[in-house]
Amino acid sequence: MRFEPPRQHPDRVVVAPEVSQPTRDPDQRFRVVGTGRPLPLRLGQIGLQPRAHIVGDRRAEQRLTEQRDALRLRRVGGEDTGAQQRGEGHRRQRAGGRSDGSGVSHDRIVPRYARGHKRGRPDRSPLACRAAGHLICAWMQIWRESAQKTVALRTGRGTVKHSRTGSDHEEPPVMNRLRSVLHLTIVLALAHCLGLGAALAEDGPVRFDGHSVVRVHLQTEDDLRFMLGVSDDPWAERLGVGVLDFRVAPDRMDDLRASGLEFEVLIEDVQTLIDDERERLNTRHLRAWFDDYRTNAEVSDYVDTLVNDFPHIATRHHVGTSIQGREIYAIRITGSGDDSGRRALLYTGGQHAREWVSISTSMYIADRFVRDYGADSRTTDLLDATIVYIIPVVNPDGYEFTWTTQRLWRKNRRNNPGSSFFGVDLNRNWGYEWGGQGSSGATWSDIYRGAAPFSEPETAAVRDFTLARDNIAAHVDIHSYSQLVLSPWGYTQTDVAPDACHLDGLAQEMADEIFSVHQKPYFAGPAGASLYVASGIGPDWFYGERNIYAWTFELRDTGQFGFILPATEILPTGEETLAAVLHLGESVAYADRVRFEGPDGPGESVAPSVNAPVSFDARAILGATLDDSTVTLHARVDGGAYVGATMLETSPGVFAGTLPAGACGQVIEYFVTAATTMGDTASFPADAPVNVFTLPVLDPDGPCLIPGDANGDGVVDFADLNIVLNQFGLTGAPGELQGDLNGDGAVGFADLNIVLSNFGAGG
Ligand SMILES: [Zn+2]
Repeated sequence: MRFEPPRQHPDRVVVAPEVSQPTRDPDQRFRVVGTGRPLPLRLGQIGLQPRAHIVGDRRAEQRLTEQRDALRLRRVGGEDTGAQQRGEGHRRQRAGGRSDGSGVSHDRIVPRYARGHKRGRPDRSPLACRAAGHLICAWMQIWRESAQKTVALRTGRGTVKHSRTGSDHEEPPVMNRLRSVLHLTIVLALAHCLGLGAALAEDGPVRFDGHSVVRVHLQTEDDLRFMLGVSDDPWAERLGVGVLDFRVAPDRMDDLRASGLEFEVLIEDVQTLIDDERERLNTRHLRAWFDDYRTNAEVSDYVDTLVNDFPHIATRHHVGTSIQGREIYAIRITGSGDDSGRRALLYTGGQHAREWVSISTSMYIADRFVRDYGADSRTTDLLDATIVYIIPVVNPDGYEFTWTTQRLWRKNRRNNPGSSFFGVDLNRNWGYEWGGQGSSGATWSDIYRGAAPFSEPETAAVRDFTLARDNIAAHVDIHSYSQLVLSPWGYTQTDVAPDACHLDGLAQEMADEIFSVHQKPYFAGPAGASLYVASGIGPDWFYGERNIYAWTFELRDTGQFGFILPATEILPTGEETLAAVLHLGESVAYADRVRFEGPDGPGESVAPSVNAPVSFDARAILGATLDDSTVTLHARVDGGAYVGATMLETSPGVFAGTLPAGACGQVIEYFVTAATTMGDTASFPADAPVNVFTLPVLDPDGPCLIPGDANGDGVVDFADLNIVLNQFGLTGAPGELQGDLNGDGAVGFADLNIVLSNFGAGG
């Protein structure tokens, strides 16, 4: 066994400067293993040797390297002392890497915690805090021992010798358990002493006074890493080298300026926007529903209102329950009458809590659908052909939190076990390519993917809602901001979606529809390849797992207000998004649900009497499943009746068959049909048998001979009749006599009949 420093819970221990003691050696700090985070405890205080520092540092470096691909976001929020410390940690990381010599002084950190973001912090018992101090020492002692053992093992020095079996050094299991219990106890004690419990409680809005949002041009991954040290809140759905927006605290702006990175200030003071918004929201009840943003409870009430006012076309559905017990609900809208065969489209908003306009837009679509049905022919036709499901608030806990406490909160509100950091990024928690690039395994990260795929009740609820409805053909997950229409895949930059052409084409058409309303330009393209990779996102699951065409919308704006989008933008954003939604619905409602490619195999022509092989790729789309047994090749020769034959699946999605044989000069015509398990049928070519594939039968050695054309001049006429009559009764080797048309070695009545029955052919 190899001894490791305790690292089971790298983000548990958060030590704020308030509890640290003055030190003689301010530079000698070290990081908790695995986080790269400086602990403001001094080595001298706890009798640690400098070599332990080296080990801890190296591990931190190693982990940073390992996580190079999972570029990290940190938790939003000035109330979080851990996040502040991590910011310093990243900064140190960069300073070390670039040897610019900039250090982090203790004095610079303290005022930030002392700023008093939190109100109502409970009194903490001095006794408990002293006990916590002892616990810290005990924990550090364990770590020191482990670290020293590791150093000894690595260097071959020291008293602990390496053993191949390691049995000499194995701790009894009870020791491990004791250590775990001790860690947890320390964390809880520290959390109490530091007021983390209060910090995590919902006890008053977090403020961002003087925080700016800047747009930075990142040339390298180092630049990105640097910015993640400067800012704990990228205002971006995905991270990567390029142009990204970040919220930056006022005391970090100098670092940004000194970095030489090209940047522009988008928002001077975020808090001003939040304050203005808050003031306006106080009077929102005086305005029309779509003239301001609405709380989750108000959205839920409005769904009830729509369902009550339009009961013949709208119903409310229970989707699930959030982790804090709030209902996740859907509104279902479809035209009156039998809806059993209708395809469905699912729209979701509010996976990310702070993206308020995604919720208002989802509701705007619902509102317009119910009101326009029967009044607007386009909407009426669409709703008579399709079912629309809208889940306006996928993340009700997070949304509520943005109203009460933290306007810029993104994740859900899971109290992560073993961590002081709340929340899972729901849009990294979906079970398709979960855990890959562009997500994080660290609870403090704003793109924390959760402990397992669908670990969160919110994503699991929407998944189950989808699985229970096999008619869902298309899905749009609505976010903000950036003005984008993104198609799969999100998880990869290089893999191309099987239906990329179709998906990207529809994305561009939707962007065009959006532009046509208020001339807002939206970029359209595959998410991972066009922008940055993000894995575990909703649309990837819908498409990858359920074959449902799925996109991400990133609504207004492009950064002027970002997440704090003015209420005057609600209606125009809704209007232009509705245009895209109408177009998508119409595209999905009647489209063939089987996509064919081919034919492969028969070539340009086929020789006489040969059965040409032919194969097609057939693939169900739009949420459907192909019924393999229904893939049928229909063929005929020279205008006869079509004969159908089931094609065999020779490899996944590839279906093979053979065409009938024909005589030289004839034409074989064919097409293919297939059905989905739900009974949708499709043919290829789409308008078959009006248009079909054709295959001429030709002699590879020369032109076809017409039966009865004894002299080979291309026409059966009196000249040929004369040849047969002149040679009538003669015999010879087959092919020797011109008049021996059937090749039986004699010119007789049979040959005469061939001429007479084809008389005039070729003319
Ligand atoms: Zn989002």
